[in-house]
Amino acid sequence: MRVVRTRADLREALASAPRPVGLVPTMGWLHAGHVSLVKRARAESATVVVSIFVNPRQFGQATEFARYPRNEARDLEACERAGVDLVFAPTVDEVYHPGFDTRVSVGAIAGPLEGAARPGHFDGVATVVAILFALVGAERAYFGIKDYQQVQVIRRMALDLALPTEVIACATIREPDGLAMSSRNARLSPAGRAAASVLRRALVAGAAAVRSGTLDGDAVRAAMFAVLRTEPMADPDYVSVADPDTLEELESVAGKALLSLAVGIEGIRLIDNERVP
Ligand code: AMP
Repeated sequence: MRVVRTRADLREALASAPRPVGLVPTMGWLHAGHVSLVKRARAESATVVVSIFVNPRQFGQATEFARYPRNEARDLEACERAGVDLVFAPTVDEVYHPGFDTRVSVGAIAGPLEGAARPGHFDGVATVVAILFALVGAERAYFGIKDYQQVQVIRRMALDLALPTEVIACATIREPDGLAMSSRNARLSPAGRAAASVLRRALVAGAAAVRSGTLDGDAVRAAMFAVLRTEPMADPDYVSVADPDTLEELESVAGKALLSLAVGIEGIRLIDNERVP
């Protein structure tokens, strides 16, 4: 496994790399969710590239960026074990070189949910992913469906900008109690960690309501809220029942729906989602 830190070294390493190339973009602090993306990439690619870059442009507050967990030595071990060929771990200045003054801004699909709660977040995501797609030129890139809207935003961008990388969405890997794995979980206290299982329980309740015939959007939202209210540590940000393609809120669940939520626990913002039926 080779580790490169500059755009130039990355291009040089990729020039002779066997194809197809699979890219897994990450912000590090790797867990089993990331490893599942790497394994999928490994199965479908001759060369697997993982990027490790905590992207300052996708954080609203500098403190959130500063507090993001980092442990490169451990991440590199995890990459080595998972069979990664090339790790791109650049500095902020290497990604955003002096004078950098471009922003990729995706339209309507980036507006609601996480886009509404975190202004500028998806501009930061789309900009860095566009740079990574351009630098790596992968045939495929792998993303987690846990960040459902992120996948939709990146798909839209890749299609609109004619980027030649296919966006592959991969299933959410969970802890035994159902909590979606996330680098942020590490910041929870033991009590907060126990409380965090409420996200999954709320989604399961919402999905069960739909499956048992509750189609009114507000009734499904209420079923999820009712579960969240049982957990005193949970501070709900939003609970959504939306069209999975447009992410517009649904009055009635006639066909497919995306149930999603964002909940603060001890000031840590956690998200998860479930598709129905
Ligand atoms: P991050 O390092 O949080 O930016 O995540 C990097 C990639 O891993 C993104 O595509 C995430 O959607 C994906 N990911 C994060 N958590 C999980 C999980 N629990 N299961 C599957 N993929 C995940």
